[in-house]
Amino acid sequence: MRRQRVVPVTRRERCGNEPCRWCDRNDVSCRFCAGSAWWRPEMPQPEPDGVIGWIRVDEPCRMCGGTGKEHDPLKPQPA
Ligand SMILES: [Zn+2]
Ligand SMILES: [Zn+2]
Repeated sequence: MRRQRVVPVTRRERCGNEPCRWCDRNDVSCRFCAGSAWWRPEMPQPEPDGVIGWIRVDEPCRMCGGTGKEHDPLKPQPA
């Protein structure tokens, strides 16, 4: 079976926390993924010869639960 590279295009409606005051908003985009709900960090990949290479991976944004909405609980809630 051939492994296919999945190109993420989907975005979750809600992060899964209920109730979530962040998911109730639509006007603030996650500043970590800029509202795309996905991020592409670079992961270190050790090569056999000792050289550290970097690979790019696609992951659902953990900071917003894949919703693309700002979810920072440290920020005071805007009125
Ligand atoms: Zn949420
Ligand atoms: Zn995000």
